[in-house]
Amino acid sequence: MSKLSPSSNRRQFIKGLGLAGVAATLGASSANAGRIRPRAPKSAMAKNLIFLVVDGMCTGTHSFAHHWSLRNRKKPLNWMQLYEQPGLTRALQDTASASSPVTDSAAAASAWGCGQRVMNGALNTDANGNSMTPLFTYAKAAGKVTGLVTTCRITHATPAGFVANVKKRGMENEIAQQYNEREVDVLLGGGSRFFEGEKALTKVPDFQNKGYQFVQTKSELESQAGNPRLLGLFAKSHIPYAIDRQNDGAMAEIPSLPEMFRAALNSLSQSKDGFVLQVEGGRVDHAGHGNDPAAILHELLEFDDCVPIALEYLKIDPDTLLIITTDHGTGGCQLNGVGSGYSDSGPALERINDMTASFEALEHKFKATGRFDPEVFTGATGIVPTQEQADAIQATMDDPETTYLSSEMTGIVADALFQKTAVGWTSSNHTSECVDLFAFGPGSDRIEPFINNNELFGVMMQALNLNQGA
Ligand SMILES: [Zn+2]
Repeated sequence: MSKLSPSSNRRQFIKGLGLAGVAATLGASSANAGRIRPRAPKSAMAKNLIFLVVDGMCTGTHSFAHHWSLRNRKKPLNWMQLYEQPGLTRALQDTASASSPVTDSAAAASAWGCGQRVMNGALNTDANGNSMTPLFTYAKAAGKVTGLVTTCRITHATPAGFVANVKKRGMENEIAQQYNEREVDVLLGGGSRFFEGEKALTKVPDFQNKGYQFVQTKSELESQAGNPRLLGLFAKSHIPYAIDRQNDGAMAEIPSLPEMFRAALNSLSQSKDGFVLQVEGGRVDHAGHGNDPAAILHELLEFDDCVPIALEYLKIDPDTLLIITTDHGTGGCQLNGVGSGYSDSGPALERINDMTASFEALEHKFKATGRFDPEVFTGATGIVPTQEQADAIQATMDDPETTYLSSEMTGIVADALFQKTAVGWTSSNHTSECVDLFAFGPGSDRIEPFINNNELFGVMMQALNLNQGA
């Protein structure tokens, strides 16, 4: 599209004046016209798509993190500042799947990725086993480059939803193989175990043979900045939680989500025909499943730092459609009113600051020795376990049936965790809540105020001018 389009002009104008100035100007001139929503023209096409998804974020999760930010950083969450950005299209999104009002991440990502709701657990494959062509295949056919960035295994459900066709999300070796065959240009995340060893269907050299640079540390990622093809695998499974990376020096060489996002933009933005990039803050969901209040807070704060990077990129490259949303809620996370007149809810947002490790990291520590260590536990959580709790945790560790010790631990000390943080949960599962969706840039005006998750596919296809017959 022409660089002289109204959309570009508006962006130049905004750039010159500063975002706050424009908002003030529009507000003043439109006092009698109701709320003004400066939007791109209906016909606008986007060259690029940035799809920012936080996995498993309840409204209560970002509200809790927002109030933490206000109290501790004296500023709102970036997420909340999106509501005030000029050019915002905002919608409420129904997140159901074909099999349940409560989706899993595979069905949710498939709804976006191919435009059809599928059964929970499936990736771009319907109940009869038919494969639906995913978004990245269309983008590739149009000459665009593609990228996936996540704090989960790169073969996990949400990134896979834009690329892969498998009956079950657990087929991660097949997903890795499809990434290679379908040549996703930038792959940054965890999950190296699906790219090595006997069971791997594709291995790192298969990518290197196709011109990918392979990186495993933050320094290597920085040194390869701008390479058009990147395979970055920074953990065997999921990337450790932000709270652990920030407090454990041994993890200093694992990049953060914003660092991976910037690296991906550096690489992909060189494409003359544009790019499609999905960036997932994948482990808000995991901390929700684990009912781990400090882990979920820091995970969300890290995702939130991606928001200004995306908005900044839109200023440089205005032919970019930016979508920011979540796929479903997880855990029903809420900061609750506690104390007389709820006066203790604010101080709880400070007490959570002396939590310095996730329960997952504690699980790894205790499993390494086979012993629950109450001193380590108290040092990381500020909670002094009773003898009864310590015995219960040890017994859970010793039980071969235990799958997630971390979740069992948060369950055993749930009352103490609630007293400390005022954060409560409705379950350790996903929830059905309708979720916020933000969009900026060309094509965002096609999004209706209430949208089903699978309707977003058509919006993205049209905005990018991708041809479904291709
Ligand atoms: Zn989940």
